Amino acid sequence: MIRTALLSVSDKNGIVPFAKALHEQGIKLISTGGTAKLLAENKLPVVEVSSLTKFPEMLDGRVKTLHPMVHGGLLARRDFPEHMAALKEHGIDTIDMLVINLYPFNETVSRENCSFEDAVENIDIGGPAMLRAAAKNHQDVTVLISPADYEPVLAEMKANQNVVSYKTNLSLAKKVFAHTAQYDGAIANYLSSLDDALDHKARSAYPDTLHLAFEKVQEMRYGENPHQSAAFYKDIQPVAGALANYKQLQGKELSYNNIADADSAWECVKSFANNAGGAAACVIIKHANPCGVAVGVNALEAYQKAFKTDPSSAFGGIIAFNVPCDGAAAQEISKQFVEVLIAPSFSDEAKAIFAAKQNVRLLEIPLGDGFNTFDFKRVGGGLLVQSPDAKNVLESEMRVVSKRLPTPSEMNDMLFAWRVAKFVKSNAIVYCANGMTLGIGAGQMSRVDSARMASIKAENAGLSLKGSAVASDAFFPFRDGLDVVVNGGASCAIQPGGSMRDDEIIAAANEHGIAMIFTGTRHFRH
Ligand code: 5GP
Repeated sequence: MIRTALLSVSDKNGIVPFAKALHEQGIKLISTGGTAKLLAENKLPVVEVSSLTKFPEMLDGRVKTLHPMVHGGLLARRDFPEHMAALKEHGIDTIDMLVINLYPFNETVSRENCSFEDAVENIDIGGPAMLRAAAKNHQDVTVLISPADYEPVLAEMKANQNVVSYKTNLSLAKKVFAHTAQYDGAIANYLSSLDDALDHKARSAYPDTLHLAFEKVQEMRYGENPHQSAAFYKDIQPVAGALANYKQLQGKELSYNNIADADSAWECVKSFANNAGGAAACVIIKHANPCGVAVGVNALEAYQKAFKTDPSSAFGGIIAFNVPCDGAAAQEISKQFVEVLIAPSFSDEAKAIFAAKQNVRLLEIPLGDGFNTFDFKRVGGGLLVQSPDAKNVLESEMRVVSKRLPTPSEMNDMLFAWRVAKFVKSNAIVYCANGMTLGIGAGQMSRVDSARMASIKAENAGLSLKGSAVASDAFFPFRDGLDVVVNGGASCAIQPGGSMRDDEIIAAANEHGIAMIFTGTRHFRH
């Protein structure tokens, strides 16, 4: 049963109403300096920790609660007579509830001009010590680190004469250890990212030891294959527009492969915001590669064009729109077998259409253009970490290297193709025209084979490549790849350049009379 609560919060939002409610439940309130002052100003009776410990808060607040009067009260086992006798002998009262939020270390070091001294002063010492004590003794102590837990715990107290169940206490304790581990991880990341210079100003994005924190969204029935187990974890605070912000409106549970493909679809379609010459973009993904990408005057047209690129591969695909999915688009899509459909929102009409197809997983994700801080690739015994491929080459950074200049429509087609190529597994060759993909060659070990595959795929879909634009995610190492795409029908090519044989490739482009652009940026995706 809760009789005494210690409140010590750095972020004081919501603490006054909660303390008031505790007071109304007859709970005695104890608090540290700043928190006690605020509660007293709000006419709440509160005992200062310093009067309990008979020690003033000292060393600029570095030592406030590090005292047996506090830690004895938190750690004593109520069911151990020896513990209770020791408390009695030393005149210590139990503390049955702890409400804490820590000095904002992460927020402090995220600030552009954070000084080393500021960072160090924001390492909370007494807070984590109390949290760990209370969480260890969760059998008898209720510990709260999140204002989101204030209401439910209060409700439970009101319903049970101030008793909080063991189940609740244990679940709160789990949160605490996850939180203190994350807090210490952030400190270790910060300190080990500093160079050894005395001013501590230079910081590496890659600390010597890397501590990451994610929280589980779901476990799946299996991983990439049925004999693998799997779970999906999200960032504690996912960036704006990220897949992890999804809301599933209907459909079966998402599988491991669904989530991986949905991420590719969503990242690709988001890259077409505003400026891709269409009002709506649609991406269809199969096995992590786009098998159709298009822009159109509306969602329906974008989908129809994207579907045309490769109708047989689109079967069972993952589809994403960067605009709301309306009834017309939903009607057309529902004619096919679809695994997952993603959009910023779905109209009522679209929802009604899919209500009849409960197997289709509908995901609503708010648009936004945030990028993860890090990209990861697990390798045997280690982790490769890099910044994400967030760069979109500006038209002004591109260079025409051929004698013939591209026409405005060729330019549009090349920019479109270049955007798509970034999301195709290397080696990537992408033919496009009029705001749609015509043939995509992905994941081949040689560029010339990707070029051949892209042409074959266009032919299979009955699409003409004559006058199309082609994008290559990395430079053509030899002229053979370029010869294949020009013979396939391309009238212009966009690629990073940078090969030791660039002169030879440019000469080949001029010989064919095509326009060619160098972007200076490569988009390998493995
Ligand atoms: P207040 O504003 O009430 O004076 O201080 C609240 C903050 O102090 C909380 O973030 C709490 O975690 C932290 N805190 C409590 N006890 C100690 C301590 O003994 N040392 C340090 N460094 N911080 C403490």
